[in-house]
Amino acid sequence: MFELTVVSHFEAAHCLPGYPGKCARLHGHNWTIEVCVGSETLNELGMVIDFKVLKRHVANVTDKLDHHYLNELAEWQLKLPTAEHIAQYIYRELQKSLSAEMPGIRLLHVKTWESASSAVLYREG
Ligand SMILES: [Zn+2]
Repeated sequence: MFELTVVSHFEAAHCLPGYPGKCARLHGHNWTIEVCVGSETLNELGMVIDFKVLKRHVANVTDKLDHHYLNELAEWQLKLPTAEHIAQYIYRELQKSLSAEMPGIRLLHVKTWESASSAVLYREG
């Protein structure tokens, strides 16, 4: 199988009420998002998917988060915008977007880095 990875970034603030430490207070991150997709076959050009096209799908999702206070968004009214929940949210939104346009592509994982040394990888199935 071929696996293809793109990396993108967005900036957003959050706070984690109830967390026993300084992350309970309002702060921001430069989030790095790694998206990995796979396919057993290649298209007529010999590609899994055009990097540019995949980056557009990722941007359509991350643009909804960029420069927002994540706790205020509808998605996080009932749960906290932790790196875990952000990775899961991006995975599920991307899954919808990719499966609608390119059913042959499998979303393998979304990895959300909230700092250079801390990341969460989310996958399903
Ligand atoms: Zn944080």
